[in-house]
Amino acid sequence: MRRTYVIIRDDDVCYFTDPEMLKLVHGPLLAFKLPANLAVIPAVSSTVSNELCKTSKKVRYVEKLPCVFPISKNRKLIEFLVQNKFEIMQHGLTHEFFKRGLKIIPEFGINDSVELSKRARLGISLLERAFGRRPRFFVPPVDALSVVATRLLPKLYDGALLASTSHFLRRNLYQGEHERTVLKLAVKLFSSNPLTPKLLEYIPRQISLSLVSITTRARVISGKGYIWSNGFLVLAHEGLWLSQTLRREYLFDIIQRVVDEGRDVLVIALHHQEIAKNTELLTTYHKLLESLMTSERVQVSSVSDVYMELAKIR
Ligand SMILES: [Zn+2]
Repeated sequence: MRRTYVIIRDDDVCYFTDPEMLKLVHGPLLAFKLPANLAVIPAVSSTVSNELCKTSKKVRYVEKLPCVFPISKNRKLIEFLVQNKFEIMQHGLTHEFFKRGLKIIPEFGINDSVELSKRARLGISLLERAFGRRPRFFVPPVDALSVVATRLLPKLYDGALLASTSHFLRRNLYQGEHERTVLKLAVKLFSSNPLTPKLLEYIPRQISLSLVSITTRARVISGKGYIWSNGFLVLAHEGLWLSQTLRREYLFDIIQRVVDEGRDVLVIALHHQEIAKNTELLTTYHKLLESLMTSERVQVSSVSDVYMELAKIR
C-alpha cells in the first residue's frame, strides 16, 4: 500500500526556546521515537518582534540594545535536541527584517547576493558547531525568498521548505485548489524557460532550479507534494498551519483527503509557542499525531528520510 510521508515542521526554535515546551508539544512523537523537523534560528536577533523573546525570562536583556543570541549558548536546549530525534533545519541566520525605504523585507527576501551568502554560510557553521552536523535543509524566515536567495540555496543545501501561501495570509488556506497554490509558488520562484523535468537531471542543480518552467514545476509538484530538481528537494505546505485560525475538522478532513489521494509527501507546519499556550490547540495536535501515528497509510518522517526515499526512485 502506498504511504504518505508526513513532515511535521515546527518553526522558530532559537536561543530562547525552553526544552520543556518542546517536550510538552511533541511529547507523543518523542515517546515513539518519531521525528519532528525544527526550523532553528542560528543566532536570533533581539529585534525579532514575536513571541520568541517576549516569553523569555531573559527579556530584560533583550530590550536594552539590539544584539544576537547564538543557539549554542542555550546548552540545555542543545542537549535536549541532540538526545531526541529532531531534524535540525536552518531558519535564516537572525530572522531579522530589513528596512528598505518604506518596505520591511524578511531576512532572505533581500537581493544582495554577498549578504545572503554570508548569512547562509554563517548560519551553517553556527548550527554545525552546535549540533555536530551540517544542516541539510533550509526554511526561509516567514517563507520569503528572493530570486537571488532561490539560486543560492541549491549550492549550499539539499533542499528547502516553503509555503505556497503567504505567511501573512494564513486564512488563505488549502481549498483543494492545488494547482492554483502551486502556481503561485512557482510564479514567485521560477522563470519561464520550458524544460522537461528529465532534462533537468543533467543540468547543475543551482542552474536548473531557475530554468524550469512554471507549468512544468506545477506539474512536477502537483499530485506528489514535492519538487525534485537534480538532487535538490523542495517541499511546500499549502497553508496547513496548525493554529487557532484553522478549524480542526477542516484540518483532519484535508489530511485524510491528501492521504486518500496517495500524495507522496504532506507538510504540516506549526509554531510550538502557539500550541503550548493553548490547551485546546495542544489537545488537537496530540489527537492529530495519534491519528497519523496509527494510520497504516502514513509515515511520520524527517526531511532527511524523505530525501533518501525520493532519491531511491530518482
Ligand atoms: Zn520564523
